[in-house]
Amino acid sequence: MDLLTKLGHKFIGNLGVEAFRYIVFAGAAFLLLYVLGRSFFARFKIQQKFPERKQMLREIKYSFLSLCIFALNGVVVLTAYDYGYTHLYMKFSDHSVGYFIFSVFAFIIAHDTYFYWTHRLLHHKKIYPVVHKLHHLSHDPTPWAAYAFHPLEAVVQAGIFPIMVFLIPVHPLALLTWGLFQVFLYVMGHSGFELFPAGFTSGKISKWHNTSTHHNMHHKYANSNYGLYFNFWDRIMDTNHAKYNQQFEEVKARSKNLRTLAPEPIIPEKTIAQA
Ligand SMILES: [Zn+2]
Ligand SMILES: [Zn+2]
Repeated sequence: MDLLTKLGHKFIGNLGVEAFRYIVFAGAAFLLLYVLGRSFFARFKIQQKFPERKQMLREIKYSFLSLCIFALNGVVVLTAYDYGYTHLYMKFSDHSVGYFIFSVFAFIIAHDTYFYWTHRLLHHKKIYPVVHKLHHLSHDPTPWAAYAFHPLEAVVQAGIFPIMVFLIPVHPLALLTWGLFQVFLYVMGHSGFELFPAGFTSGKISKWHNTSTHHNMHHKYANSNYGLYFNFWDRIMDTNHAKYNQQFEEVKARSKNLRTLAPEPIIPEKTIAQA
């Protein structure tokens, strides 16, 4: 098989995995929140409107373009592996289970840091209008916006993968775990619905984890809330939106009130407490 055919096979394989991951996670969230469970979940909607079809089509189009870039990135990494340049290891027994777990956390923490700082850079006034503005065209994103980036931004986002495989040993299963965690969080951040419980953003431990409201506010205001998985860098750098907690609790309070207004017979809370 000549080199070009080999590279083509790698690209198609990678694109298949990337597309499957995106369609399954974004599609499931969309089906559940926007179609099948729309009337039930409406009370958890962060912004009180539903985006137009045109917006979702744009989000899907650019997400697929990003997936092609991620697949190309995978071709580069796999080819580098073939020539012995990466630290990818295929035999699970080459490293301990403890190391395997460490490598998953190392990828997640490194990616969180990489994302925060490159995201700050993408908001630089000279770079934003040319590159990152495209992602912000969705002021109220849907799950389909998970990878809706300008191609240059997709290249930047993909960068963490080669950096890490050149730095530390990693097994494909660890990459898969990281990949699933990643797509889940990307889809959650863009879902447009807040499903975490009241008090989450002020809990001693839970406040360090990001929420859907956090990233939804980033799309709405674009001048705060730059983090990805964790609310670590935004807290350290004081870039959380001043009304983040307040907005989160407002969404939660509204979902509670809407539930009270539901057509079922309402039992006053006092009566339940006394029972
Ligand atoms: Zn976003
Ligand atoms: Zn941004």
